[in-house]
Amino acid sequence: MAFGLLKYGFSRRYPARRDIPPTPDLKPSYDVVIIGGGGHGLATAYYLACNHGVRKVCVLEKGYLAGGNTARNTAVIRSNYITPESVRFYKESVELYGGLSGELGFNLLYSQRGQLTLAHSDATLRTFRQRAEVGRFCGTRIEMVDRKQIREIVPCLNLGMKRYPILGGLWHPDGGTGRHDAVAWGYAARAAELGVEIHQRTEVTGMTVDNGRVTAVHTSRGMTRGGQVVQAVAGMSSRVAALAGIRLPIRSFPLQAMVTQPLKPFLDPLVSSAGLHAYVSQTARGELVIGGGSDPYPLYATRSTLDLKESLIAHTLELFPFLAEVRLLRQWAGITDMTPDYSPILGASPLKNYWLDAGWGTWGFKATPVAGKRLAEAVATGKPPKILKPFRLERFRSFDLVNEMGATAASH
Ligand SMILES: Cc1cc2nc3c(=O)[nH]c(=O)nc-3n(C[C@H](O)[C@H](O)[C@H](O)COP(=O)(O)OP(=O)(O)OC[C@H]3O[C@@H](n4cnc5c(N)ncnc54)[C@H](O)[C@@H]3O)c2cc1C
Repeated sequence: MAFGLLKYGFSRRYPARRDIPPTPDLKPSYDVVIIGGGGHGLATAYYLACNHGVRKVCVLEKGYLAGGNTARNTAVIRSNYITPESVRFYKESVELYGGLSGELGFNLLYSQRGQLTLAHSDATLRTFRQRAEVGRFCGTRIEMVDRKQIREIVPCLNLGMKRYPILGGLWHPDGGTGRHDAVAWGYAARAAELGVEIHQRTEVTGMTVDNGRVTAVHTSRGMTRGGQVVQAVAGMSSRVAALAGIRLPIRSFPLQAMVTQPLKPFLDPLVSSAGLHAYVSQTARGELVIGGGSDPYPLYATRSTLDLKESLIAHTLELFPFLAEVRLLRQWAGITDMTPDYSPILGASPLKNYWLDAGWGTWGFKATPVAGKRLAEAVATGKPPKILKPFRLERFRSFDLVNEMGATAASH
């Protein structure tokens, strides 16, 4: 064993199979150029190649594959939103996740263990009732639960807290979690097998726009052209769109999260509290993943802050006081692009061959499969499918908003 490892370490040709081929030279043109090698860009590339036979596709990633928000999120997957438009959209994503490990031949550690959201006021209970009705109407599994049921779902939860009394909850058995970077790697591996070129360390630095079309994409490794161009750059959406002359209604805020040392399994469902601005889940390795709301100021920085750590920990301890001695392992941040209605921008842009996958704020990981699949359909056919219509950029001009503020504040 030791000798084998040593031989492997000194070997010049590593025998392990590479899922992602090395970055090739940039070709002069492609049918589709995708900017951003996170989950969304890679999923779009995969579905273009797999579902529509569009294989002359390149993905341009300024850093390493899935090193952006895909690598930084807390992997909450759910469909318990407020509006029917959103519930239908995220429900399709949850359904896709269910078969994705099999489809991609990649273990995504997808685990549907349910999500419990707590209500600490009558006003929250009222909105939960509405969410439960809308969810059921759209076919999602969701129900109101009382304190007794909460005790059964999460026996270790502190139901005795005085400052933020728990009045009831919203139980969503369809909620779950998955391995975030495996999602990106799985899509990348299968897309590459189908002929998609993945260019890492290739930053898009400019675009030439002529006659309402993007005619050239300039990168740190030279220029290329795309019949169609897609941007899927999460926290850089406004900046990249500006390269094409497009102004997006987006403000960018840091969002932080943290993880503790591993503990014996004690928490099966995901637990979140909008009132406390905190949510907690336990990973397969036993670590507790803890997150909350965005930082309160717009900023392009991924530093962690002490005040966020203090407030998140204080609120987590209200829910689970017995965690007081547990140590934190890591704290990190990503940049989240927030739209005025807390819903994404997905579909056509003011330019004829430029497509937007943007405004994913704090909630875009769960949408990776549906966004990739449906945007690929729009790009391949030239017609955005019905399910994407509510999320078009044009809605901000017509004030046809899809308001999800109350469903994204602390649960992601
Ligand atoms: C702390 C945190 C917790 C979160 N928790 C959740 C959660 O629990 N559930 C959930 O659903 N969502 C969550 N999110 C949101 C989620 O992470 C994102 O919405 C989602 O990952 C976006 O995926 P993406 O592929 O669009 O972006 P990314 O993974 O960020 O990919 C975009 C890529 O574009 C690249 N790029 C940027 N500019 C350029 C350029 N000029 N040229 C080339 N490439 C470029 C970047 O390097 C990056 O790799 C969370 C986010 C954070 C930060």
